Amino acid sequence: MRPEQFPEEIRAYLLPEPKGEMVYRCLDCGHEPDIARLLYTCPRCGGVLLLHNKKRDFINAISGEKWRDIFDYRRMLNHSALNGIFRYYEFIAPIIPLDRIIYLGEGHTPIVEANHSLKEEVGLDFYFKNDGLNPSASFKDRGMACALSYINYLAKKEKMTSLLSICASTGDTSASAALYASYLEEFLKSAVILPHGKVTPQQLAQPLGSGATVLEIPGVFDDCMKIVEALAEHYNVALLNSKNSWRILGQESFSYEIAQDFDYEVKDKAVVVPIGNAGNITAVMSGFLKFFEGGVIDHLPKIIGVQSEHADPVYRYYLEDNPEKRRFEPVSVRPSVAQAAMIGNPVSMPRVIRLVEAYNRAAGEKRIFVVQVSEQEIMDAMIIANRNGNIACTQGGESLAGLKKAVRVGYIGPGEIGVLDSTAHILKFAMFQDMYFNDSFSPEFNIRPRPELRNAPILVKPKGVKKFPRPGMPLKGKDMKRFVEAMASEIAKILGLEPIRKDSGEKVTGSPKK
Ligand SMILES: *Cc1c(COP(=O)(O)O)cnc(C)c1O
Ligand SMILES: [Zn+2]
Repeated sequence: MRPEQFPEEIRAYLLPEPKGEMVYRCLDCGHEPDIARLLYTCPRCGGVLLLHNKKRDFINAISGEKWRDIFDYRRMLNHSALNGIFRYYEFIAPIIPLDRIIYLGEGHTPIVEANHSLKEEVGLDFYFKNDGLNPSASFKDRGMACALSYINYLAKKEKMTSLLSICASTGDTSASAALYASYLEEFLKSAVILPHGKVTPQQLAQPLGSGATVLEIPGVFDDCMKIVEALAEHYNVALLNSKNSWRILGQESFSYEIAQDFDYEVKDKAVVVPIGNAGNITAVMSGFLKFFEGGVIDHLPKIIGVQSEHADPVYRYYLEDNPEKRRFEPVSVRPSVAQAAMIGNPVSMPRVIRLVEAYNRAAGEKRIFVVQVSEQEIMDAMIIANRNGNIACTQGGESLAGLKKAVRVGYIGPGEIGVLDSTAHILKFAMFQDMYFNDSFSPEFNIRPRPELRNAPILVKPKGVKKFPRPGMPLKGKDMKRFVEAMASEIAKILGLEPIRKDSGEKVTGSPKK
């Protein structure tokens, strides 16, 4: 719809203007540095930052009901800048002019209801939100769309002619960063740092295809992170890890979409997210909190964070019930199929600690829980999900395994509805599916495929057939006839097909009645 076709009372709100006033805010010392420069840590104390909009009068002046109307009407608006995560412009980064916003098709991913068998299996109604259907096939695009829109705005304002973006990655951050940077190739070059041998072939192909410089480092993600931090400290580069708080803002759209897709009814929802570097769960909590404070939603949903027992520092932290006694200890990770979450020292941990507190306080009760699952549970859950119409990656499997665990331990009860973050597309992680099907996991994963869940292609090559067609050398005449007949009968045998009895009157469908 064109703007002039919308009801009068909505028209003034359709196309937002940059009315906000944003600052970084240090979670440790409260310092509020200006956003004119890209910052990743507090210049005073080195603490972790989040972005904060100081000018909220224009948000508070509008009722929750009106906001819901605005977002629902914007759904019908065709405007590139507002087609993605910036449908929720005022709640994300209301300082970026619309003509600086980059939209590559991110956000508004489908929410797919689990089928009957899956609901039976879990004992609960639930949905997958398929964030693997973002342009680079993971949720990371939400944050990159915001971070790169901001960099685009800054670069044009400062008349920058060249800038290098850099990130460390377990695979998906680099795929996304390289994709968005390539859109701005006029002034932006991109380099990514990956743990050698610890990303899948598909994830490695992505930044290569986008033209980024790909640097592989011996070690795990946590080591790569240390290196980019050193680079960002000493050189003039734009860091695109989730230390970059512009990414957190973009990822909050995940929560806004869940609210909108359930008509702003989130009281009975339990949102399940895998935790790696903890940027995602930070954004999910922050997003729901902002909508709650703005009156857009009346309740805060439960949030269940999930970690593999091979990379579980956040789970361990919250094992201690008494907040006074909690102490964060990084863990040394072991190989995990949830490789994108295989992180022992999450950069966003200080954000998580703050936001969990704020969230539970705002809700008036404990609404955030963290569960731990085994590698076996993750793989079984992913395979089962995908045998029931889904496209879950290993981390999506982790979400499903986490939902089952949360139900088992009573964090989620009858009548509640799960919303599971399937954070990437299965095709990125097909390698782990292969290992499951071929029973070829190395011992440290401790995964044994369930026989009934394994699958493998069957090569059809009946004994009697001597001649087979080959590219450029088709079979002809009798040879072709023999080939087709022998193949069809072999396949019918494998599939246990019943022949149609031609004389019985059970007519082949489509044959004309005489
Ligand atoms: C990055 C990523 C995660 C973990 O998210 P964090 O923000 O690091 O906690 C989970 N799944 C996938 C597919 C990812 O790419
Ligand atoms: Zn500080």
